[in-house]
Amino acid sequence: MVDVARDGAGVPAARRSPGGRADVFDKRLDASAMLRAVAETGVSPFYRPMRAGGGEARVDGRSVVMAGCNDYLGLAHDPRVIAAATGALERYGASCSGARTLNGTLPLHGELESRIAAFLGTEDAAVVTTGLQANLALAALFGPGELVFSDAANHASLIDAIRLGAARRTVYRHGDAAHLDGLLAAADPHAAAAVVTDGMFSMDGDLCPLPALTAVARRHGARLVVDGAHDIGLLGEGGRGVGEHFGLREEIGLYTGTFSKCFGSTGGFLAGPAEVIGYLRYSARAVLFSASMPPAALGAALAALDLAQQEPWRRDRVLRLAARLRSELRASGLDVRDGVTPVVPVRVGDDARCVRMWQALLDEGVYTNAVGAPAVPEGGCLIRVTLQATHTDAHLERIVDAFAAAARRTGLPRETPPPRPA
Ligand code: PMP
Repeated sequence: MVDVARDGAGVPAARRSPGGRADVFDKRLDASAMLRAVAETGVSPFYRPMRAGGGEARVDGRSVVMAGCNDYLGLAHDPRVIAAATGALERYGASCSGARTLNGTLPLHGELESRIAAFLGTEDAAVVTTGLQANLALAALFGPGELVFSDAANHASLIDAIRLGAARRTVYRHGDAAHLDGLLAAADPHAAAAVVTDGMFSMDGDLCPLPALTAVARRHGARLVVDGAHDIGLLGEGGRGVGEHFGLREEIGLYTGTFSKCFGSTGGFLAGPAEVIGYLRYSARAVLFSASMPPAALGAALAALDLAQQEPWRRDRVLRLAARLRSELRASGLDVRDGVTPVVPVRVGDDARCVRMWQALLDEGVYTNAVGAPAVPEGGCLIRVTLQATHTDAHLERIVDAFAAAARRTGLPRETPPPRPA
């Protein structure tokens, strides 16, 4: 028999078996600083049911500005995307009920693959069920005796892919191509090597230094793999991501990406040379052993991919709104990181302050994301604001006003605001 006591927060406190064996179930939820802050403050920003659309959301029966979702182009609720999802659902059913290799391939999967490859200008693309799986599939590329160099701020799924693979992992300082250069220079010059980076980093919204990474990767004969989850659809003249933004598309050896951010759906892809994609289709366990991207998601992604190309105003709009939001939040004294993307991180310090600030913002009518470790370093909590092309100027003003009021209410220390231009 296992003896389980409960502490005040309802968390199992200690489990002991009579034989003294440790218990695999003996895990404490409140080991995370953020969850301790949740227990202390009684405020939980997580798993809150809501319904979003048009730049707003209904949370706790109230209508608030949705400033915490990755639908940057505002396509997830577009009637044309919904109609395409409904059409595919009615035609093909709710599920493919199997993996791509067997019964899980619809004509729509092939169509989406051709369209993604044509959009990014790659030889081929493979569509998988989530962006996370697209990254996990990379594990099949990273073999024994090979080397993978990974940015310290890479997405968890890239980190997991590298851990799952057999190659040796070396982490370089975030965005530091000189550090990467030194590490590559010290590594076995004959071993196959890949540099793996997010194109746009999900928490701070900053971009990888692609020109410098490209030069380093070239100098050392390493392949460059870029996770374009956030930037494909958003950045560059035609929305083709950081490669296009920096004029270096041909330098990216392999892309991974998602349909869950700019493309209003759910699903993921890998895009690159035909041989590599062909190999991954038959070797990547994340592709082989999971049911395929479902019909409604395929219909939505196909429609959103078209709209993202036909309506470039969406990119312009959300990037312009982000520039304005950054400068207005800064003018009110908040600690906002520099950048050009619609992910606008506001540094708030420790976890308790972060959840209090999050609740105060919600009370003021704005839903944001509270972010703590492990997504960011301990004590470096963020309120992460994300914008959408469908936000109005009035939404933006509500976000700025809510921050000013919430910072006052929670006593968030503010820098001395720079003087406003006359
Ligand atoms: N890569 C990055 C950089 C991401 O931010 C995310 C999602 N947060 C993913 C991959 C995973 O994408 P998906 O949600 O489609 O699984």
